[in-house]
Amino acid sequence: MNALVGTYCGHCGRAEAAGDHDACAERLRMEPPRFCTHCHRRMTVQVTPTSWTARCVEHGTTTNP
Ligand SMILES: [Zn+2]
Ligand SMILES: [Zn+2]
Repeated sequence: MNALVGTYCGHCGRAEAAGDHDACAERLRMEPPRFCTHCHRRMTVQVTPTSWTARCVEHGTTTNP
């Protein structure tokens, strides 16, 4: 299962079940998520030239593969 896909969309922040997120999934291949997929909080995102880290205060960090 894709770590970036959970209850909520990591890109637009809406519920995964609420609609079509194919375009969001496409963006998430290139960009860090903006919202935590578990709790819908806004993530603190740090981007470096080679990677990114997105942090939820509740659920910890997600890094790119
Ligand atoms: Zn979405
Ligand atoms: Zn969270």
